[in-house]
Amino acid sequence: MTEPAHVVRPEPSLPGPRLEIDLEAIADNTRLLADRARGSLMAVVKADGFGHGLLDVATTALTHGATSLGVTSLGEAMALRSAGIAAPVLSWLSPPTADFRPAVAAGVELAAPSLEHLRAIRAAADAVGRPALVHLHADTGLARDGASPDAWQQLCQAAAVDHGRGRLRVVGLMGHLACADRPGDPANAVGREAFARFVATARAAGLDEARCHLAATAATLTDPSSHHDLCRVGAGLVGIDPSGTTMLRSAMTLRAPLVSVRSVPAGTGVGYGHTHVTERRTSLGLLPVGYADGIPRSSSGRGEVLVHGRRCRTLGLVSMDQTVVDLGDLPARPGDTVTVMGPGDDGEPTVTEWAAWSQSLPHDVVTGFGPRVARTIHAARSPRLRAVSALDVRSRP
Ligand SMILES: *Cc1c(COP(=O)(O)O)cnc(C)c1O
Repeated sequence: MTEPAHVVRPEPSLPGPRLEIDLEAIADNTRLLADRARGSLMAVVKADGFGHGLLDVATTALTHGATSLGVTSLGEAMALRSAGIAAPVLSWLSPPTADFRPAVAAGVELAAPSLEHLRAIRAAADAVGRPALVHLHADTGLARDGASPDAWQQLCQAAAVDHGRGRLRVVGLMGHLACADRPGDPANAVGREAFARFVATARAAGLDEARCHLAATAATLTDPSSHHDLCRVGAGLVGIDPSGTTMLRSAMTLRAPLVSVRSVPAGTGVGYGHTHVTERRTSLGLLPVGYADGIPRSSSGRGEVLVHGRRCRTLGLVSMDQTVVDLGDLPARPGDTVTVMGPGDDGEPTVTEWAAWSQSLPHDVVTGFGPRVARTIHAARSPRLRAVSALDVRSRP
């Protein structure tokens, strides 16, 4: 991702906290999701690829089954284009006062949730001298983004006029489901039916070319009737299944070294406010990660980490830069590596557990890591090498 110069990521060779990103897991998840989607797959790489790296997630997903990319901001879309990514990119969250000209010039597809947006995008297209590629965005039940049913017909008619005059092309109709993480929720059928009505209105206005898309990760995994022409998946790429139905691979491991280890007697207050007081003699380890690095402060008193194969509890309040771990009688030494979270293969806590400890979502945990955390990227095997190794496996006796 093109980052502002003041965001300085530490050298991975320095002994601080380190996030390992497993692009092989993202490749596997992408292929599973592309396989499930009835139509094509859009990789949603907003928020720095859900904290896993905008460009790494985008290129991995495009290599393993996604055919387009989705982001919220224009800045994210332009960063993809600046990096040389030529695949279709949709950006769906800008005020109508935004300057859409660079995006139109770069062929970035733009969502229009209102007439104001449509006018701004059309003006940009006129200024640039090329038609804008537009997705009309309908509110299918979140009362958040998208046009309401009242505003929709007028939006479609105005877009159809512009489309007919060649000033823009309406290439998509989009909605979003509010409760797809609970497959049985009646709001899902209500959202699907609302979308069908929005689509019918758009078709009646002559918008025949537009492809329809409604499903995100949860609906992609649980509700084929919501798939239409395209599924927009983000969380699932990085191993998060909000519906809890499908085994996806987590792509992140956070490790940190112990900065110090100290023995303390029973009755020792730990950290700010002494919210924890030790009940027995024990050994306290100090980790150089706090809430500025992505350890949720709301996990204070509940979080666990893996030290030499054993789960250890964190104690007291998580500080901005540091977290205290109860090592008990473990013979841990300063400099030893602690696994804070990961896929769970070795017994380390998962992103899902950290989300529960902080009364939040895995999405919130994976997008929360700060700039002091170094990153190591493990590449995915190329599809060609995969094909070769699959043949190897088959040809074995
Ligand atoms: C973030 C987002 C998505 C992707 O959702 P996931 O549940 O992460 O797959 C899809 N559509 C819209 C409008 C979004 O904002």
